[in-house]
Amino acid sequence: MTELKKLDDYRWELPKTGNMLVPGIIYTNQSMLEAVKKEGALTQIANVASLPGILKNSLAMPDVHQGYGFTIGGVAAFDWKQGIVSPGGVGYDINCGVRLASTNLQEKDIRLKLSDLVNELYRNIPSGIGSKGSVKLSLEDEKKVLVTGSKWAVEHGFGEDTDIEYTEEYGCLPDADPSEISDKAMKRGKDQLGTLGSGNHFLEIGIVDEIFDEKTARAFGLYKDQVTIMLHTGSRGLGYQVCDDFLAFMKKHVKSLPVEVPDPHLSCAMIQSEQGQRYLRAMACAANYAWANRQILMHHAKDVLMKSLNISPRELGMHLVYDVCHNIAKKEEHIIDGKKRMVCVHRKGATRSFPPGHEALCRAYKNTGQPVLVPGDMGTASYVLVGTETAMKETFGSTCHGAGRLLSRKAAKKAAKGRAVYRELEDKGILVRWTGRATMAEEMPDAYKDISQVVDVVHGAEISRKVARLRPAAVVKG
Ligand code: 5GP
Ligand code: MN
Ligand code: MN
Repeated sequence: MTELKKLDDYRWELPKTGNMLVPGIIYTNQSMLEAVKKEGALTQIANVASLPGILKNSLAMPDVHQGYGFTIGGVAAFDWKQGIVSPGGVGYDINCGVRLASTNLQEKDIRLKLSDLVNELYRNIPSGIGSKGSVKLSLEDEKKVLVTGSKWAVEHGFGEDTDIEYTEEYGCLPDADPSEISDKAMKRGKDQLGTLGSGNHFLEIGIVDEIFDEKTARAFGLYKDQVTIMLHTGSRGLGYQVCDDFLAFMKKHVKSLPVEVPDPHLSCAMIQSEQGQRYLRAMACAANYAWANRQILMHHAKDVLMKSLNISPRELGMHLVYDVCHNIAKKEEHIIDGKKRMVCVHRKGATRSFPPGHEALCRAYKNTGQPVLVPGDMGTASYVLVGTETAMKETFGSTCHGAGRLLSRKAAKKAAKGRAVYRELEDKGILVRWTGRATMAEEMPDAYKDISQVVDVVHGAEISRKVARLRPAAVVKG
């Protein structure tokens, strides 16, 4: 592997060599860079740079780590006319994402009741790998979910009309076509709407711990000591199956193209081909399922909070701050070399970071830029940031999505041997309830990078700006 070229304190270039069509750019700092060099991420960034139609740079955010084919924490944009789309560039959990709600409550209102509250949340939020939800879907209804996303959930009593406005893409990607979804995927989706899923997914009660940007925080409805609810989940078994089905399909298809893929997980189709369009129509279905899922789960959480604390909706005052996706391919317009161009932006473990004035933003955030939600880990912190103009210029309007893994699940289990991670957290005042047998070990804070460093990189590079930090108080994990 060629030497990386340091551009400034936050940017390193992976120069164009071999089959690379564009250079790689890695947003990181000196100490995190060492970890990136040790695993396979650099080769993956270079591999992505060789795919047809890639524009400007193969990008990696500071939370980058090795994934299947494409890194997690990677961003790549392809020309809409001459580029490819790849299921591996989106990932298995299509539209995995984060939703944050604010409340009228302060820490003092819940501290003494926290244990009951987290127990009630745990009992009422279905979690674990194959868990089933409270919503039973007929095949017809499931198809409607796939086509309309959040709207279906709101129309069926899960949440408010206004929630739609505070959701990326208004909770629905166009052109979703359920006829592209296999029977197996439909079957997996039937009973899983309104479920959290496994280990890395969570519902967290967080406290606003520090405000970095008073004005923007106010526009987002956030203030110090406030209780917030953060939710992280995606499209469950349905999305996984869509990815699996289309990866198999693309692995065959790519053999007919004049494209060398150095890794089968990079298999792809031209965006303009029938195969490429079919994937995008199926991906939109899974994305819409994920939005309905998060909409339903947040509504359940609201119910539990009201009942458990014995307060009215007004007293709770729960409002959706925003819902973002971090595993997706999107058709977007970007300015490249001074010209407007339609591109397909793959964000796999990366969050959209659109600036003030962008037409995709709802009225409430037109003047601020979009809220960017970045979970850290269950023992440290999470951040709310805001989108910037620099992101538009450099990263196709993208930034990081989390702390990113430092240890593989296996390595984390080894490192946690003999420790009672939940006790360590409880000693810090953080209550955790979990389902998976290995969750506490695999998900312990040491398994992730230092979120403050990750966020300082994206803030320093100005591809998003810090608004507020949240501290975990109670977490329900899958
Ligand atoms: P991913 O979608 O890549 O699995 O996870 C996104 C990010 O969520 C991870 O990189 C990690 O930083 C963060 N994360 C995972 N578990 C938790 C948790 O329990 N609480 C919080 N606040 N963040 C978490
Ligand atoms: Mn995720
Ligand atoms: Mn996920």
